[in-house]
Amino acid sequence: MKQYSLAIIGLGGMGNWHRELVNEGTRFHNKVILGGFDNLKVTGSFDIRECRQEFALQHGLKTYSSIEELLADPSVDIVLISTPNDVHRSYVIKALEAGKNVVCEKPVALNSGELQEMIDTSIKTGKVFAVHQNRRWDEDYLTIKNIYENKLLGDLFRIESRVHGSRGIPGDWRADPKQGGGMVLDWGVHILDQALQMVPEKVSKVYASLTYITTELVDDGFFVELTFENGLVFIVEVGTRNYINLPRWYVLGFEGTAVIEDFSRKGKIVRIMDYSKNDAIPIRTAAGLTKTMAPRTSETIKEETLPDVKADIKDFYRNFINVMEGKEKLLVSLDSVMRTMKLMEAVFKSAQKGAPIAFEH
Ligand code: NAD
Repeated sequence: MKQYSLAIIGLGGMGNWHRELVNEGTRFHNKVILGGFDNLKVTGSFDIRECRQEFALQHGLKTYSSIEELLADPSVDIVLISTPNDVHRSYVIKALEAGKNVVCEKPVALNSGELQEMIDTSIKTGKVFAVHQNRRWDEDYLTIKNIYENKLLGDLFRIESRVHGSRGIPGDWRADPKQGGGMVLDWGVHILDQALQMVPEKVSKVYASLTYITTELVDDGFFVELTFENGLVFIVEVGTRNYINLPRWYVLGFEGTAVIEDFSRKGKIVRIMDYSKNDAIPIRTAAGLTKTMAPRTSETIKEETLPDVKADIKDFYRNFINVMEGKEKLLVSLDSVMRTMKLMEAVFKSAQKGAPIAFEH
């Protein structure tokens, strides 16, 4: 079995996550992903910060003094770009032109024009180029996708996907528009992408607004309403000044409702069992009475657990190597990455216009 060597450019938070995943393993909630691939190892890295070069040495990596030195090393088969977003384009192109296969962190580029240049270079050089849209492996997302695809709640008419935090924009490059900061590029790229991956229909309308609550420099949150051609409305929202989070997912189908509270997939389904039976006990408030909004009783609804799903993020690199060996196609196709990039452009356009816009892609 051929052994592949991976070198990381930009060994910050996410670069190190890749190092851990590939060489050591990673943890989330109470789960552990054991590290070590039979045929892949992170062997080296380059970072402009001296402290990260030292960190690399402490973890047994070879360090390079420049990207050129790294790209000139014939023992490096794959290069991961995990620098701030504005550097992705030039580094991806350099690495492909140096004959390396390239993985790039999300958002792959600042706009669709840059992405097209990268794709053209990968075609010209014949090297594999993939984008780390890792949240396609999130189990909360895959649970809702399962409910949607298998019609577990009948047809869905509304899906709400939210990521809420309270810490504003981190005070690093993410607050700098020139470096590709802002929450649309940071989180929108994940959860807009999930919406497009889940619903195969065309998007007929995009309406978006951006927030600038904690800073005026970049969007620190956004609200997007996507209307799909089948009528499904998909809400995608990010907030960074939310001290109480709304659920990660809230999903309405003709036969029930599902909720997932957080990334740990805590949640439930409530299914309607009997439409005909009237179990409504009117609710009295100080100012009146309502039968319409009366909660249901166990006579007509049933609570269920969420369907089980399994995902293994290591499949990202397994697939990448299989593509290099000509055995598979990319799981994260470049066409799908381009579509998400164009959707983010539509989000900015709609927010600027303050009106819904059509989405042709
Ligand atoms: P970070 O600031 O922690 O790390 C970036 C590293 O790149 C730093 O160590 C910095 O010194 C280095 N760097 C900056 N400019 C460089 C250059 N020109 N050449 C070489 N090194 C350079 O940021 P991060 O959170 O690790 O984000 C890095 C990338 O990963 C971004 O594109 C971000 O969007 C992405 N990211 C992805 C996920 C995900 O889940 N897929 C999560 C977090 C970050």
